[in-house]
Amino acid sequence: MSLIVQKFGGSSVADAESIKRVAKRIVDARKSGNDVVVAVSAMGDTTDELLDLAREVTLLPAPRELDMLLTAGERISMALLAMAIKSMGYDARSFTGSQAGMITDAQHGAARIVDVTPVRLQSALDEGAIVIVAGFQGFNRVTGDITTLGRGGSDTTAVALAAALNADVCEIYTDVDGIFTADPRVVPKARKIDRITSEEMLELAAGGAKVLYIRAVEYARRHGVTLHVRSSFNNNEGTIVYNPKNGEHVEEPIIAGVAADMSEAKITVVGVPDIPGKAAQIFTIVGKTNANIDMIVQNVSAAATGLTDISFTLPKSEAETVLNALAADRDEIGYASLQHDDQIGKLALVGAGMRSNAGVSAKLFTALFEAGINIEMISTSEIRISVVTRADSINDAVRVVHSAFGLDGDSEAVVYAGTGR
Ligand code: ADP
Ligand code: ASP
Ligand code: MG
Repeated sequence: MSLIVQKFGGSSVADAESIKRVAKRIVDARKSGNDVVVAVSAMGDTTDELLDLAREVTLLPAPRELDMLLTAGERISMALLAMAIKSMGYDARSFTGSQAGMITDAQHGAARIVDVTPVRLQSALDEGAIVIVAGFQGFNRVTGDITTLGRGGSDTTAVALAAALNADVCEIYTDVDGIFTADPRVVPKARKIDRITSEEMLELAAGGAKVLYIRAVEYARRHGVTLHVRSSFNNNEGTIVYNPKNGEHVEEPIIAGVAADMSEAKITVVGVPDIPGKAAQIFTIVGKTNANIDMIVQNVSAAATGLTDISFTLPKSEAETVLNALAADRDEIGYASLQHDDQIGKLALVGAGMRSNAGVSAKLFTALFEAGINIEMISTSEIRISVVTRADSINDAVRVVHSAFGLDGDSEAVVYAGTGR
């Protein structure tokens, strides 16, 4: 008998009909003789709606209470799903994150899983039940509080369950047929990828491809879990995300895909004295806010003034805190002013074959130039090139780059559900 972990995202369980459809799919896996553990997200856009509600009550919701609120979403879907399965004559039991033994650190809103103790899940399985676990949530032993794993975190729940229970398969069911060469909502000609290495998927997820949550890919890489990302609306084969074994020969496409991220802002510290220690000083202050800095660019100083500008990108939601921290230490750093720009978009071109192919950046920059799109920042890693553009040209940028690298397919990709929110 195999053990299968299945994760269903919000768009797959958006209403009562969808929940019944998913229940049938889970029962089918059970009927084929498998033990089945399910991680489920909140219905449709529930999490966003709960967030909106919280912000109507206060602009700065207390992190502990926000986690209490948001975890209610998954509690609704897990109970409904278990009911639907039971009504089909199969035993099913739902568990919250803490009941499932999803132990995390205490970081509300972005907790990391530190241990998984699925004792209750194992005994439910031993008794022949289908196990349904609320995605996205955990429990901290020290504070005794409920935590959430960050937006999109149900993917991590599924991967962590698969690792802890030593599952044979971890299937991520969503509203598209798998991982595509770009978001099919933006690039209708995007092609489905059959197999992708976790290394490339990690860079795509970091670049904003929300089809898989970056921490889930990291977790899968660390624990050797193979993922199968597929549609919950049909039985087509999806995309396998795998970790090549040492020495395994991998066919590496030059370019795996293009991702875009609209969630970042840019801060520029203008007129910084161009002397040793200033970058250290600025980023020590920024570091104390725990902000997640992404790209950093320092301009060449104008010789006459001896002053330079330092720009960096970070999540929009963290900009305010960082601006306040820098403003508080203005005299100490000795800069002239701060600029805040939240109308940027980031494009990431990813491919393991870049390592051995010159000319990829030239082709990328030429494609953007020919489309009249200005590049504001550039950063590279071994298998990724990222550029920042104006927010309103990012979708065009993704489409022209996708075409320029010959990624366009012959048919239109299907998006089965979801609002893309
Ligand atoms: P779920 O609710 O199932 O977790 P998400 O909305 O989090 O679903 O993720 C699926 C969505 O990710 C797709 O509908 C698609 O718009 C988006 N997406 C972004 N980049 C990609 C990509 N490269 N391949 C497939 N989907 C992508
Ligand atoms: N419901 C959570 C969210 O919308 C977790 C998830 O869907 O993965 O972010
Ligand atoms: Mg998701």
